[in-house]
Amino acid sequence: MKIFTTIPDLKSYVSTQKAENKTIGFVPTMGALHQGHLSLIKKAKQKNDIVIVSIFVNPTQFDNTEDLKKYPKTLENDTKLLESVSCNVLFSPSVKEMYSNNISSEKFDFDGLEHQMEGKFRDGHFNGVGTIVKTLFEIVTPNKAYFGQKDFQQLQIVKKMVEKHHLNVKIKGCDIFREDDGLAMSSRNTRLSKEHRNAAPFIYKTLKKVRKKFGTENATKVTEWVEKQFKKHPLLDLEYFTIADEKSLETIKNKESSKKYRAFIAVFAGNIRLIDNIQLKN
Ligand code: AMP
Repeated sequence: MKIFTTIPDLKSYVSTQKAENKTIGFVPTMGALHQGHLSLIKKAKQKNDIVIVSIFVNPTQFDNTEDLKKYPKTLENDTKLLESVSCNVLFSPSVKEMYSNNISSEKFDFDGLEHQMEGKFRDGHFNGVGTIVKTLFEIVTPNKAYFGQKDFQQLQIVKKMVEKHHLNVKIKGCDIFREDDGLAMSSRNTRLSKEHRNAAPFIYKTLKKVRKKFGTENATKVTEWVEKQFKKHPLLDLEYFTIADEKSLETIKNKESSKKYRAFIAVFAGNIRLIDNIQLKN
């Protein structure tokens, strides 16, 4: 696997590959890689000649400095994992390489997607995501880029950015990869205390019950039920739960058979914030 840390080195590699008509699949990450990330890379390997993975903990998408400071960094292990799935290139630039001396975000208009859910609780988060993803796309110029449905709102926002800015890249959404007990894999899971780690599968268990209930109960009732479950829980604090239209991400008012819905949740397990979601059947 080739490892690049500077933009010119990566660009020069990419142009050589493109001159040979090779297709490029791209998987942007913040590192502390796990099987969820690897599932995206494996998918990219199947459909592209070359797979490029970036590892960059992007400061502008963090609204919480403590979360940024404590974000796990495991580059040596990440490199081994990437080699184990035959990744072709790792791009791991410094903050200075990506932002020079101006660590700030561009302002984006994602047609309202940015004001829902995570946007309400993480100030400036999606401007940070848009800024870094757009910059990475300009450097890597991938044919296809792979994003997890774990961050479903991010996936929809990246699709929107590609559409609005006429970027020449196909965005592929990938299924959520889970631990055996149902907890969605996340780099932040390693920061959970033993107690909170044991409690965390309650999140997905609740989402599965939500899927069942949504067949017979309306969204308001299901939401109230979820809020009650978390009020009773001694270790997990609900930040938000909502049932929303997959396209607009707006909280559902009335069920319509032509639309697809998804339940979204954010929970604090101690001071670690976990998110998850599940597709619902109408
Ligand atoms: P991150 O390193 O957390 O920024 O994630 C990088 C990419 O991996 C994003 O597109 C995430 O949605 C995706 N991802 C993270 N966790 C999972 C998971 N458990 N299953 C599938 N994709 C994931």
